[in-house]
Amino acid sequence: MLSVSIGVGFQDQPLPFYRVTIVCLAVLTDESKLMANLNQAVILVKRPDRDATPDCFEVQSQALQTLAAGEVRVAVAYVSVDAGTRTMLMGEGFHRQVPLGGVVLAGAVGRIVESNVEDWAVGQAVRGPLGAQTIATLKPDLLEKVDGDLGPLSLHLGLLGGSTGVTAWIGMTQVAKVQPGEVFVVSAAAGAVGCVAGQIAKKAGARVIGIAGGDRKGAYLTSQLGFDAVIDYKSQDVASELKRLAPAGVNVFFDNVGGAILDAVLDNLALRARVVICGAVSQYDNMTQVQGPSLYLRLAERQSVMEGFAYFHFPEAIPEAKAAISQWIKEDSITLPEEILPGIESYPNALGFMFSGGNLGKLMVKI
Ligand code: NAP
Repeated sequence: MLSVSIGVGFQDQPLPFYRVTIVCLAVLTDESKLMANLNQAVILVKRPDRDATPDCFEVQSQALQTLAAGEVRVAVAYVSVDAGTRTMLMGEGFHRQVPLGGVVLAGAVGRIVESNVEDWAVGQAVRGPLGAQTIATLKPDLLEKVDGDLGPLSLHLGLLGGSTGVTAWIGMTQVAKVQPGEVFVVSAAAGAVGCVAGQIAKKAGARVIGIAGGDRKGAYLTSQLGFDAVIDYKSQDVASELKRLAPAGVNVFFDNVGGAILDAVLDNLALRARVVICGAVSQYDNMTQVQGPSLYLRLAERQSVMEGFAYFHFPEAIPEAKAAISQWIKEDSITLPEEILPGIESYPNALGFMFSGGNLGKLMVKI
């Protein structure tokens, strides 16, 4: 089962002139985009002071050059919007840095529309670091062929995406290793990684508590994904809710948020708990002054461990992750909602949309 919702985040905001122009381009087919010889790229024009506001980006038209030997040209279908991208816009990135004047780095999926490389045929569906743009021209070394007939191409950024389903699978199976009957807590539970991690914990027989903002997300997680309980951190006190919902303590915490939420869970650990640091989205707007956990001594008191991970440190597990998730997709036993923002011109607002909690599930821009 794959549910899709369409993002309607910024319809009532006035559109600057360039966006009106691009709305027209966005309806062009792959072929006509090529004939128009134009790429629309999201360029970083200003580093964010704090929030990644739309004025940090410009969508610029770029003329396509003749395809060089050894290159392919890909018409991008979906651009992944990832929390980690926020850190790449700063002076010093978490993983990498987007140069000022450069195309915003992003994973994406699309189809080859022109090729000068044997074995990379026109029509082949591919995923890779294509960037936030409509047409990517590159050597295929970093590209991965994907099955374009499995479902919508968005699947390869969502459930089967490296920074989404694969991350959750690796974090859960290689690090968290949840056991039946354990109390499992996940933060940013209604986001892309969180939704998948929680479902994997349910499959492992754990009691799953999500932490997420707002009624819409809580209702989705309990009614559609089978979470046992959800704490709305925007309207409830996380520490006291955890005491109520898990009086014997939390066995595994899969943390996507950091900051105050991490402290609240540390204060409620069971003996020999595992705290898995997947990310810390609450800290990405201010990477020079990250708020560390003030209650880390609970780890000593409760004989517990904290371990971080990045999915790319487990290259050997990636094929297994994709195979396992593909099997669950076939069995219809896993799902991930998709929040789709329309057109490349919506990218400048996308990170703000995500950081204010706009997305339920995987956030993407559809070209
Ligand atoms: P996501 O969870 O789809 O979106 C981020 C969500 O975080 C938002 O929807 C929002 O939901 C919540 N949030 C934003 N600011 C918050 C704040 N200040 N306090 C609490 N919650 C906040 O994003 P994602 O791309 O899937 O990433 C999730 C996490 O996984 C991130 O920490 C990311 O860095 C990490 N990640 C790690 C790896 C790895 O290999 N370790 C790979 C990919 C991603 P609410 O409505 O609930 O606030």
